Amino acid sequence: MRSVGRTPTRLHFFMYLLYLDDSGSAGNPTESYFVLGGFSTSEFSLHWINTQLDKLAEDLYPHDPRSVEFHASAIFSGNVAPWSSLTKDDRRKAIKDVLGILAKAWNTVAFACAVHKLSFPNDDPVELAFEDLCSRFDMQLGRHYQAGERHRGLIILDKTSYETSLQQLALTFRDAGTKWRNLRNISEIPLFVDSRPSRTIQLADHVAYAVFRMYERDDLTYFKIIQDQFDTHDGTVHGLAHKTHDRPGCTCPACMSRRLTKPPAGY
Ligand SMILES: [Zn+2]
Repeated sequence: MRSVGRTPTRLHFFMYLLYLDDSGSAGNPTESYFVLGGFSTSEFSLHWINTQLDKLAEDLYPHDPRSVEFHASAIFSGNVAPWSSLTKDDRRKAIKDVLGILAKAWNTVAFACAVHKLSFPNDDPVELAFEDLCSRFDMQLGRHYQAGERHRGLIILDKTSYETSLQQLALTFRDAGTKWRNLRNISEIPLFVDSRPSRTIQLADHVAYAVFRMYERDDLTYFKIIQDQFDTHDGTVHGLAHKTHDRPGCTCPACMSRRLTKPPAGY
């Protein structure tokens, strides 16, 4: 987004990456919510994040750390190896430890959109959440531009069954913009990667899971670890969105933040 009324005097150009994964099933009628979530970070923080996650895998399974895939719902349930060999408390601690890395990462903020599916019976919750997060990521980069730092954004998603629809959607967004603003800082269509070797996508999975547990199960255990990490500007939590028709009565951090501050148009 171009700055209004202010010309940046110096520009630093480097990549910002938004890693996203989903939690909850868009088509599962037994679940109320679908969540798309993850984090944005600069290219310079990726090595540190990956190293920290590798160290955590080594602590858990020193004999074969590369076999460890941090997938939050699998860790939580403990039904599959290697998580089935851990106690319930140790598995809960593993999820918290993964999220703790996000909380300590430099230049890294969380993003998530929770869609209450019954509030939007005629919409695809995946598309709703993706459109919302594209706009929020673009807004973050637009603020950087106004501060004199020009970053290009790239969205990276887990390879899922949504690959085709999300790719097409991203092309449409790039050409036409979202409902709220043109996406001027996001340079490419999303990159889809396999989550198994990607520690960063595994971290995004944990953010989505923590947010899903809060909205779907009223369980703040994991969200509390990252609640202060969501993209925030002038007191408004822009990085967390709760899409529901019951927002006026909701006391979640996203809805409370918007009631306590004056949101920009469209939020
Ligand atoms: Zn809410």
